[in-house]
Amino acid sequence: MKTTERYLIEELNIDPEILERISEAEEQLKGVFEALDDKSEYNQYKVLAALQKNRVSDMHFAWNTGYGYNDPGREVTEQIFADLFGCEEAIVRPIIVNGTHALSLTLTGILRPGDEMIYCTGKPYDTLEQVIGIKGQPGDGSLADYGVTYKQVELKEDGSIDLEALREAITPNTKMVCMQRAAGYGWRRSLTIDEIGECCRFVKSIDPSIVMMADNCYGEFLDTKEPTEVGVDIMAGSLIKNPGGGLALTGGYIAGRSDLIRLVSYRLTTVGIGKECGLTFGQTRTMLQGLFMAPKVVNGALKGAMLCAKVFENMGYEVCPGPEEERSDIIQCVKLGTAEKLIAFCQGIQSAAPVDSFVTPLPWDMPGYDDQVIMAAGAFVQGSSIELSADGPLREPYIVYFQGGLTYEYSKIGVIKGLQAMKGL
Ligand SMILES: *Cc1c(COP(=O)(O)O)cnc(C)c1O
Repeated sequence: MKTTERYLIEELNIDPEILERISEAEEQLKGVFEALDDKSEYNQYKVLAALQKNRVSDMHFAWNTGYGYNDPGREVTEQIFADLFGCEEAIVRPIIVNGTHALSLTLTGILRPGDEMIYCTGKPYDTLEQVIGIKGQPGDGSLADYGVTYKQVELKEDGSIDLEALREAITPNTKMVCMQRAAGYGWRRSLTIDEIGECCRFVKSIDPSIVMMADNCYGEFLDTKEPTEVGVDIMAGSLIKNPGGGLALTGGYIAGRSDLIRLVSYRLTTVGIGKECGLTFGQTRTMLQGLFMAPKVVNGALKGAMLCAKVFENMGYEVCPGPEEERSDIIQCVKLGTAEKLIAFCQGIQSAAPVDSFVTPLPWDMPGYDDQVIMAAGAFVQGSSIELSADGPLREPYIVYFQGGLTYEYSKIGVIKGLQAMKGL
């Protein structure tokens, strides 16, 4: 018996049958894992090249005070993101509080009264509904309050963008067409880079002045190209997901065309000041080190998601996406079927965490949700979803959303402990 196997069985009381299932799944996934390793190796060198090109040095990890004019660390960090994402300019800041903030700055920076925006991947991420004004109180200052109109084009049955319906929706007032790359918390697949590129070409052929925007949250380093390399004009994401590599303490980024970044920077600070001001509070080192680690971290999380999918599929559960399916985000959904299994699996995940492993998660009435929700996470960075977590609402068909893991081994022990906790149910 291998050292690890003996340890898991003898010290952690893991059922040997679970370990057999895990080994079987790993064996079946060998080919897919190799392809993933190729992508992450490529992305590792791509990040390295961006750091080298910008001559990163010790001085870039320092920070200044007051207005923050001429901060070399801030400037180099933003240029590295722009180079890496193959675009003109980027804003990368710890003062962007989350992904929603980055996306909101992008929309509000670019759209003007009378403009129309279209989401062509169905309903946007929950938190954006109030920003757009689909939900919330009139007078809150949403885009709707400012006279920006909104249209939504649903995805087709197979999860692809309905280009013909999009053509119908576009009018002379259409200023922006937005895409969400990740599936988020829906039972659908994510958009591939090729599909994003195709949609951009399609829209530009109708009206080249339309701004193509991508919500890139969870999508970074899933492929060898990012949306801005295939025609997207501007995109935004969170640093406590993929690109922060688990090390960034907070923050968000916006990357794209210079003329658009200028407008967004005017929304971030003030008109006229833009991105010339703003402190980094000593965060450039963790942001850049996190970016450096990110391809490997994303690789581990992805392999963990695939392992989870494969083991559950082998056991007869419905999973989305399928274990070998092409992925454009790091979320794995599994239909567990009963509340007991959902709760047990999440408790197993929690017990595998490096932080708060002694806590027992229970279903609770989370504000804004109709059903009780259970959430397991034991993260070094609060709310970081590149770290291992599992959650789901307590309603039929009891889907668990499994994601993250800073290393493959950690994601794997999460699956093992989740299965162990479900034993006998
Ligand atoms: C996480 C996420 C966001 C933003 O969420 P925050 O919690 O504000 O960082 C937006 N869109 C998608 C698809 C996401 O996954």
